[in-house]
This record gives sequence, structure tokens and C-alpha cells, in this order.
Amino acid sequence: MQHDHRRLGRELGLFGTDPLMGAGLPYWLPDGAVVRHALEEYVREAERAAGYRHVYSPVLGKRELYEISGHWDHHSEDMFPPMELGAEQVVLRPSLCPHHALVYRSRSRSHRELPLRIAELGGMYRSEPSGVLNGLTRVRAIQLNDAHIFCTLEQAVEEARAALALISRAYADLGVRAARHRLSLPGDGGKYVADPALWERATALLREVLESSGTVYEAVEGEAAFYGPKIDVQVADPAGRETTLSTVQIDFHQPERFALRYTGPDGARHRPVMVHRSVIGSVERAVAHLLEEHGGALPVWLAPVQLAVLPVGGAQEERAHDVVRRAGELGLRAEVAAAGGGSLGARIRRARLVPYQAVLGAREAADGLLAVRLRDGHRPGALPVEEVLRRIAERAARRGTGLWEPA
Ligand SMILES: [Zn+2]
Repeated sequence: MQHDHRRLGRELGLFGTDPLMGAGLPYWLPDGAVVRHALEEYVREAERAAGYRHVYSPVLGKRELYEISGHWDHHSEDMFPPMELGAEQVVLRPSLCPHHALVYRSRSRSHRELPLRIAELGGMYRSEPSGVLNGLTRVRAIQLNDAHIFCTLEQAVEEARAALALISRAYADLGVRAARHRLSLPGDGGKYVADPALWERATALLREVLESSGTVYEAVEGEAAFYGPKIDVQVADPAGRETTLSTVQIDFHQPERFALRYTGPDGARHRPVMVHRSVIGSVERAVAHLLEEHGGALPVWLAPVQLAVLPVGGAQEERAHDVVRRAGELGLRAEVAAAGGGSLGARIRRARLVPYQAVLGAREAADGLLAVRLRDGHRPGALPVEEVLRRIAERAARRGTGLWEPA
């Protein structure tokens, strides 16, 4: 398939795997690391602006931690086997939630601190069977954009609604379309915690979140987390296959299990609610989806190379390197596609996924100009070097999917 993220990842030199490193354990090449870094930076910035505080927590935890959270009983088929460490057993974590519950519990909390929004882009692990592993979409080592909002019952709907709004804004900046919103409910079988009142309460609140924000949704049984229902934002690949990218959950179960408390205005101790949410899901799946959605032509602010400078002949090469240096000073990622790399036409074709191509011939070099071509076929024409670089830098800073605004 033409838009397969594995093929695009190879063509763009973004990531790879090695049987010796292990199946489902991809590594990121320098250009892939650039994309990932831009994405992570975006998420952290958006979260900071929305009042989240970031933490770091370890990818390992004692087996007991997951016994308390319920992962051990309800989720163990997806977990790596525990490692013996002296008299203890430690486990590669299957989720970040238990760690964040402990961060919350690290000291006493007052109602004045709520909502407390704890975010982390952290590692988690899933022992996927080798048959389902696929590029970046199904992996065993996952870097998750996760957050937990600890709040009062009265604040939960508003916090979940704000998380949905954060997701919509991110989709606009990334050029991602939601295929549909799914309200994921429990199904048959013993994998869900048994507490009907808890499920009903959380489901009613999630319906309120969806309906009050005017979101069209479909309720689907058998897709909930083991501890509660969730809103899943589904995206579709070019073949129409759906996956979950983003989620929002309202959870009464984990606060019970971890005996979380806050002191209310009445001086008494109350149980907070936990809102779990992920804006872009895992970095791996997000990058795979972005590659497929855009056919490799990533938005300017995410593109590993934003500007290719193409000297027509060897005489313009030095000037081309000068342009790349000035672009770098503005924080842009630019490269020279040197004349030695083939005909101008061949070099332009090779740079077809780069948002901007700047041709530098004898006339442009003499006048301090660049002949600009956009990857969508538009040709703004010959413009002063500084103006071209400034406009690209402005475009990148604004994010979104636009390439060139009228001056
Ligand atoms: Zn969680």
C-alpha cells in the first residue's frame, strides 16, 4: 500500500527495527527523532497552557502496585512476566495510572489544589504476541502521552470536556481527522471489575460530557478499560481501518483502590475522582497515523526537513550552504540538495515530501533571491532570502497544516 507508514518510514529514514533488538521494539533514526521531538514538545506546551504539571516516574514497579491497581488480576495477559529482584518481584509497567496515583498520595491534599492535573510522556510495556506486531502501530515498548486529573465529583465533567477540547485542537494542528467518537462500555466476561454502581455512575458522566459538548458518538460494548468506561477518539487509516488514538475516562475505581483523599471545605476527608486522558495516544501510533494520513507529507512544523535548497550548479553551492545556515539560526531545519546529487528535476522529485524547495540559480544568487516551490505544486516565485525564511519560520510556529499564506 502506498501510504503504509512502514514504507514511508523507510523512505524518510525515520525508524527501524532489528531482530537482535527484538520484535515490536522499534528504534528512532535522527530524522524520526526530530519528528518525535516536535510532537512531544507540542503536547507538553499544550498541556502546560491547559494547566497540567509534568512529572517523571519509573517504567518499573513492584508487583504489589499492580495488584492494588487491579492490573494483576484483570490485565495480566498483556503484561510482561515479573522479574525476580532479591525477595521482591518487579514488573514493567502496563500503564502509568498507578504511579500517578502514588504521586497524588505523596502528601495530603486540600480541595484548594483540585483539579490537580498530572501529565507525563512516559514508557509502558505490553507483551503483544509476535503475530500482531506491526511497524509503529502495534509495539511492545510504548511511549504514552498520558495524564491524570484528580478532582472533585463536581469538577469531573468539566475536566473531561476540556480534555476533549484539547484533543480537537491538537487534531487541527496535526491535520488529523477523527473518524468517530466511541463510548466504550464493558462487555461479557470476567475481565472487568465487578461494581455495577460504579460503572453506571461513570457512564452517565461520560454521556453528559459527550452530549454537553455536542459530540456525536456511538456506544460500543466490550471496549472499556477493566476499571471503567471511556471515550475513545477513533481515527481511520487510508484503507478505512479504525484505531483508537485518544481517550478520556472518568474513574472511580483507582481512587478507591489507592485510598486517595482530599480535605474538603468542611474539613472532612473526601474521595477524589480520577480523569484519565491521552491527547495523542502513544507517540508510536500517532507518528504512524500522521505518516499515513498525510502520505508522508507531514505538516511544516513536524517535517524532519522543512526546506531543501537546490543550487542549479556548483557555482551556487556556497550560497546554498549560507541559506541553510541562516535558516538554522531561525530554528528551521534546512538541507542543501547539492548539484552533485543529479539533475535539478531528479533532486526536486527526491525532495517531493519536503514542504519548501528553494532553487538557487545564477540570477537568484546575484540578486539575493530564492525561487520557491511548495510541495503541493504552488510556486510563489523568486523572493528575497530573508523574506522566504521569515515566512517559513512564521508558518512553522503557527502549526496547523497550511503551507503559504498570501503576503
Ligand atoms: Zn490512566
